[in-house]
Amino acid sequence: MLKLVKNNFNGYILPVSTSSPEFVFLGEHPALDFANTLYAPHGELADQLRSWADIIEWLHQAKLGDGAALEVSKSGAKAALEAVVALRVAWVKQVMGMLAGKPISRDFLRMVNAALEKDRFSEAVATGNSEAHFALVRSASELRGVDAVLAILSRQIADFLTGCNHEYLRQCAGHGCVLFFYDTTKNHRRQWCSAAACGNRHKVAAFRERQARRKDG
Ligand SMILES: [Zn+2]
Repeated sequence: MLKLVKNNFNGYILPVSTSSPEFVFLGEHPALDFANTLYAPHGELADQLRSWADIIEWLHQAKLGDGAALEVSKSGAKAALEAVVALRVAWVKQVMGMLAGKPISRDFLRMVNAALEKDRFSEAVATGNSEAHFALVRSASELRGVDAVLAILSRQIADFLTGCNHEYLRQCAGHGCVLFFYDTTKNHRRQWCSAAACGNRHKVAAFRERQARRKDG
């Protein structure tokens, strides 16, 4: 199992590991799923983005991008990975800040806007399946490699910041669980990243506690 040495959200050591990533898509928004690529599946924080191939695979599974345009050269892969991880580190810090009621940092917005500014694409109005139905269709980006990936990820972060109700941003209530999610449930009382994982663990722990108390009393 991958072990990650980490003191805070600004500093950590990327380990070398051959195990395949365990991506989770429980965030209900791609920007939060991106933040959740650093999480604690077995009690220890583990980074699921350890190579450029991991990033390509995550984008594919997240249905955010595919294809040769996202590839980087072998010599540029390390710097490209570091740039994406730096964006995630900064984003996770903002998400933690939002949960604590803090404003988004100006530096972070500058980072996101710099990536968005580089993007080059065109848009066209297309007719849909009926005369009255139109859709705005975006061309493929002219960006390549790391710039293309940073633009894709920044767009999702921008979408979360501008289009979501931040009151419904949550972190899993599970002990030691660091996963974030956007609470889209009807009464906005979702507590767990997953009812089957953290929710169930909580139920079992509460049951054991009741049993122990019964024995003591
Ligand atoms: Zn959890």
